Amino acid sequence: DSFDVMNLQENLVRGIYAYGFEKPSAIQQRGIVPFCKGLDVIQQAQSGTGKTATFCSGILQQLDYGLTQCQALVLAPTRELAQQIEKVMRALGDYLGVKVHACVGGTSVREDQRILSAGVHVVVGTPGRVFDMLRRQSLRADYIRMFVLDEADEMLSRGFKDQIYDIFQLLPPKVQIGVFSATMPPEALEITRKFMNKPVRILV
Ligand code: AMP
Repeated sequence: DSFDVMNLQENLVRGIYAYGFEKPSAIQQRGIVPFCKGLDVIQQAQSGTGKTATFCSGILQQLDYGLTQCQALVLAPTRELAQQIEKVMRALGDYLGVKVHACVGGTSVREDQRILSAGVHVVVGTPGRVFDMLRRQSLRADYIRMFVLDEADEMLSRGFKDQIYDIFQLLPPKVQIGVFSATMPPEALEITRKFMNKPVRILV
């Protein structure tokens, strides 16, 4: 059980150790490798299990850093969580030179547009603002090939179902999908059935 045996890029492993993680948690041990292979994954896990670093590592490993186009989109139920994920992504990807931006409500739309037009690799955000940025084409979906729903059950219970579906419609059809959720209510199962391709299921 080590981050060294997951076939991760050296600069990603450096970022993980520099962040202070020594050994992978159970979910990281089971979830990072399938995500890095490009598989769709459903991970049923509570917060506190290390799920954030699981999908951040999976994304960071697969980005093309030579392209400053958004290639990964992460949705979270709250502004605070989105900003927390942004920080973890930036820290773990420090040695890779990752560019991450959080698109959340309650902040300047102009500022979001300015940062997005300057070029980012990853966007983390809440469904409302992300959909707004996509609709205005301030965020281009053409290069997005990884899509993560964090705390999917929580997003659904906050009434984001329609916006999540609207966002799905705007993404390229072959996007890799990761769904992280503490519970799997019917609406979450519906999303996995409708949009995911032979997902790997991991329960921790
Ligand atoms: P999460 O479930 O992603 O919200 O993570 C819960 C907490 O566990 C956070 O404070 C992380 O920084 C911490 N954490 C996650 N993975 C590890 C790890 N492999 N080693 C030590 N701490 C970790």
